[in-house]
Amino acid sequence: MNRVYLDHAATTPLKPAAREAMVAAMAVFGNPSSVHGEGQAARALLDDSRRAIADVLGVRAERIVFTSGGTEAANLAIGGVMAAAKGRKVAIAGIEHDCVIGAAWRYDVVEIPVDSDGVVKLDALEKIVAAGDVALVCLMHANNETGVIQPVKEAAALAHAHGALLFVDAVQTVGHLDVKPDEMGADLLGFSAHKFGGPKGVGALVVKPELDFVPQMMGGAQERGRRAGTENLPAVVGMAAALGELIDTSDLMARLVAGLEEIPGVGIVAEGAVGVPHVLQLRVPGRNGEDMVIAMDLAGIAVSQGSACSSGRVKASHVLKAMGYSEQEAGEGLRISLGWNTTVADIDAVLAALKRVVA
Ligand code: PLP
Repeated sequence: MNRVYLDHAATTPLKPAAREAMVAAMAVFGNPSSVHGEGQAARALLDDSRRAIADVLGVRAERIVFTSGGTEAANLAIGGVMAAAKGRKVAIAGIEHDCVIGAAWRYDVVEIPVDSDGVVKLDALEKIVAAGDVALVCLMHANNETGVIQPVKEAAALAHAHGALLFVDAVQTVGHLDVKPDEMGADLLGFSAHKFGGPKGVGALVVKPELDFVPQMMGGAQERGRRAGTENLPAVVGMAAALGELIDTSDLMARLVAGLEEIPGVGIVAEGAVGVPHVLQLRVPGRNGEDMVIAMDLAGIAVSQGSACSSGRVKASHVLKAMGYSEQEAGEGLRISLGWNTTVADIDAVLAALKRVVA
């Protein structure tokens, strides 16, 4: 059976350009920190990749800190700022990814309320930062379960007006949207290669140079002393190659939405909110999301229920619960996410299968 993969928000297949660049980079075996020729060849390739990534994001190359992915970027941002913030608070919303929630809860947390679309309430955020004891606001660019885009620019202005910094988890948008950390006002911004056709286990944190920032990994002076450990050169090279071209799935998303509207009983979560063109969550009230994922899988289609859980088991979505859905309703979601190799035929196949499964 031909499989249809529509779970790109969980991870993506490797783009051919990334694979080719990685295979070539594997022959460059030197340690980028070594002074000899082999080391310098590796350093040159690392610097080229850093520059290429920085150019896409419109920042200086020195601001890029390579990490093992989005989870480490969030832990580094939150741990790095909060370790220097001495007793001040971190503000997060309940719709954030578990890596942000987990990293933040080691500190004193203030929760930012969200509306029924899962968008942070800016008036509430203003009151929170106006108290003057918040060091860091964390706000994801787009939600990984619903695709809803957050008002990061407005949040940055509020945070900065009251002496707080902003960390943006842009794992679901870099490679898909034209993300520019400075236009957003992000002091720190994290992303991950495997969400845009790059390899797994590599990502980066973009950090402002003047920031009071405590490294979280102790060891060598790699990444300008901000993240110790020998860089994963082939992975970094693959990430830069994958980021060379933005993924545009807006026409496919429009076709998907139009098709879903024709299926009785299917509702789109946060339909009125502005979302990314590659992530959509639907609900069929009264139907368990996990059962639908299994039925779709048997029909040859890979979709998911909210986020991919590390244990392979799925629980009711904390994102939907934060949006006001009940425990049962929060278990009824089904996420369809598109990527660089998604075709019109894939969209038609998921719509046909869903029609059968719902019926
Ligand atoms: N943040 C968001 C919004 C995500 O969707 C993910 C991955 O699911 C992560 C962070 C974690 O990224 P990584 O898998 O690279 O650790």
